[in-house]
Amino acid sequence: MIISKAPVLTDAQLAEVESIVGEFGCKIQVIQGAHRRIYAIIGDERSETMVNRILGLAYVDRVDRMESVYKLMDRRSDLANHRMVIGGVEVGREPLIMAGQCTIDPAKGNAFLETAQAVKEAGAHVIRGGVWKPRTSPHSFQGSVKSLGYLLEARERTGLPVIAEVMDEAQLKIALEAEVDLLQIGTRNALNYTLLAEIGRQTAEKGTPVLLKRSRHMGPIDEFISAAEYIVAHGNPNVLFCPRGTMPELDGYRNHPDESIAPIIKEKSWAPVIFDPSHSVGRARYVPAASLAAIAYGADGLIIETHVDPLSGIGDDPKQSVKPDVLAAIIRDVKQMWALSSRWTGNGAQA
Ligand code: PEP
Ligand code: MN
Repeated sequence: MIISKAPVLTDAQLAEVESIVGEFGCKIQVIQGAHRRIYAIIGDERSETMVNRILGLAYVDRVDRMESVYKLMDRRSDLANHRMVIGGVEVGREPLIMAGQCTIDPAKGNAFLETAQAVKEAGAHVIRGGVWKPRTSPHSFQGSVKSLGYLLEARERTGLPVIAEVMDEAQLKIALEAEVDLLQIGTRNALNYTLLAEIGRQTAEKGTPVLLKRSRHMGPIDEFISAAEYIVAHGNPNVLFCPRGTMPELDGYRNHPDESIAPIIKEKSWAPVIFDPSHSVGRARYVPAASLAAIAYGADGLIIETHVDPLSGIGDDPKQSVKPDVLAAIIRDVKQMWALSSRWTGNGAQA
């Protein structure tokens, strides 16, 4: 849909627009409104080059596309019925809970193993543990490959799948060789298209689920969905959206909580939404409310930083990890909230 600056295009302008869209196999249908004319593009209007060429015309105000630019992630795509089973949960049927430490301290591996056991007992389905950490300061602890051993041991002991963040191809290679069950792409790499494409390629065969965090700089929702499209377009349809709060922060919180985008993502895309309350609010005491809010908004699950003894942890754990008894209470309440809100969210109703 082309909106011109003036209410009507001149004959010469219309001819120019028709000739551009014609090069891309499209036509123009003129619609006469009460005060102006609208020029609908008939055909496949997804070409970026076509749209940019029209936008480059001085007499064009804007182009509104009816078709979404993400072909695979769109709710109307052939993948709309794609289902994932993670940690024994068919995603969308019941809340999927991932929990564990922000960071595995390689000097305190036993604490992580205790955390893993405790989150399992609390009812989590997937264990999280940061091996490599994206840190704002290069002087902060950057994570250690030594922690990978503890992550794998936790899997061995609990029988639950594990998730860890990878930030580059070298880490991806190590994680895939170790058969880490799920990969996390952090907010800082949320728009690293080369990495997203590479992850799609390297996980295509195995279909390792990828938890894609939202870019923290108020990334538009279409941009978030298009980032997921990179992974899927390169062969792996097992992508989960993870809103985790955006910047600038809401005064008092670590970020601006964004669990409310769950229904909007779900109107646009078929992929599940797993909300991260821990990084969103950034304080353990606010995590329960943020978790319940996300479920009320229709999130399919949560990833919650949890530690047996948060104050002895590193990374984010001291400030935002909940203890396992709190996690257990959150999971109990989340189940109730899921049941209560399913009539509005439609969750749990999939055939
Ligand atoms: C994390 O999960 O510990 C993390 C660093 O997340 P984010 O990329 O959302 O900041
Ligand atoms: Mn963290």
